[in-house]
Amino acid sequence: MDWQKEDLKYIWHPCSQMKDYETLPPIVIEHGDGINLYDIDGKCYKDVISSWWCNLLGHCNPRINNAIKKQIDSLEHVIFANFTHKPAITLCQELMKILPKGLCKFNFADNGSAAIEMSLKMSFQYHYQTGHPEKKRFMALTDAYHGETIGALSVGGVDLYSELYKPILLDVVRIEGPDCYRCPYNQNRESCNCECFKKAEEVFVEYGNETAAIIVEPLLQGSAGMKIYPPLYLKKLREICNKYNVHLIADEIATGYGRTGKMFAFNHAGVSPDIMCLSKGLTGGYMPMSIAITTQEIYDAFYDDYLKGKAFMHSHTYAGNPLACSAAIEVLKILREENIIEKANKRAKYFNKIIKENFLQLEFVGEVRSIGLINAIELVKDKKTKEPLDYHKRTGYQIYKKALEKGLLLRPLGDVIYFNPPLIIEENDMDFAVNTALECVKTILYH
Ligand SMILES: *Cc1c(COP(=O)(O)O)cnc(C)c1O
Repeated sequence: MDWQKEDLKYIWHPCSQMKDYETLPPIVIEHGDGINLYDIDGKCYKDVISSWWCNLLGHCNPRINNAIKKQIDSLEHVIFANFTHKPAITLCQELMKILPKGLCKFNFADNGSAAIEMSLKMSFQYHYQTGHPEKKRFMALTDAYHGETIGALSVGGVDLYSELYKPILLDVVRIEGPDCYRCPYNQNRESCNCECFKKAEEVFVEYGNETAAIIVEPLLQGSAGMKIYPPLYLKKLREICNKYNVHLIADEIATGYGRTGKMFAFNHAGVSPDIMCLSKGLTGGYMPMSIAITTQEIYDAFYDDYLKGKAFMHSHTYAGNPLACSAAIEVLKILREENIIEKANKRAKYFNKIIKENFLQLEFVGEVRSIGLINAIELVKDKKTKEPLDYHKRTGYQIYKKALEKGLLLRPLGDVIYFNPPLIIEENDMDFAVNTALECVKTILYH
């Protein structure tokens, strides 16, 4: 059977111009092992982007596999309204031990965008039910990414995804967010005082009173090209949110679970959000699950006699799926018992060192930035002016194709090449990834 041909007959792949598949047909993966993916011809691809940032501890991790196998023979799924099960309860107990202070009520959904939608609705309804029906807008940062359903897309600020849909999106209050590589205040992220926060202050003065919540990707704006900004920005946000009675929603879908070197990106700032969204690493990248976790205070605003109509009438069929919960419990156990984050942080130093050594000297590399094991290389036309490469050349895409030939799975964001590998990646695979990516960049840019 020609599996690629059969695929193209039926499947409309996510976030893809299907015409591109004429020259680059879908790669049919048969099995995975650690950071390796093997196609039906036995060719190996090193997955250094964690399969869209979700695979945390390697493919087919034996411990997670066993946890799911064990669960499946007792209960695969059950309605989550008025019913519950041990895996969901245990998962909450375990998360309570490590979450930022104050977060203690768990509302389950089945993908990242759904958790975002839930947070926005929850925040609006909280204000409505506590005497502030005028608080019905949301703030978000430029270049933000929060998913692609209508509400999540509305708070997002990456034109590639949202521009076309503007006529049907919510009217969001946009704050010009941090842009550390091209800082308009000529500061740098290691030493600045978040001079750019002034923009947020101006917006809060104007719109704070009609705003329910601001949503942010803490420290790392992933889809924007792995843009990194300092924790101080989050601290300042926490203060101003308190002042204006605006909820701070942390979209930790990509940054949670050790990706930034700590369990949650908010840990770097030492403050707590009012709602935190988790997904991706939550189940180790095994099962679609997400949680919006919030405070007692928000929870209490919904708690009353049924006929008062204050309940949060939001549900997803697969909320709290026991298989996903079992995977998620095992992930937390592995992180703890195998000291995964601590070890990853040690290897992250090596990774960042070899990336800088190899890439910084190239004339087309504007910046190498890193946080945790995430490393991004921004390609530019001119190092001095930081002028981007010509968008029409699709340089990142050419590099992507070249890397696939060589058995490396990159997925550049425009012309930003990045690595966001499973936390278990070892030095020899780091060497392979860096050498291969370097070869590809050189081949495409110096041909
Ligand atoms: C992936 C992602 C989402 C959306 O999650 P989906 O499961 O793809 O809907 C939202 N926010 C951030 C920061 C993400 O990285």
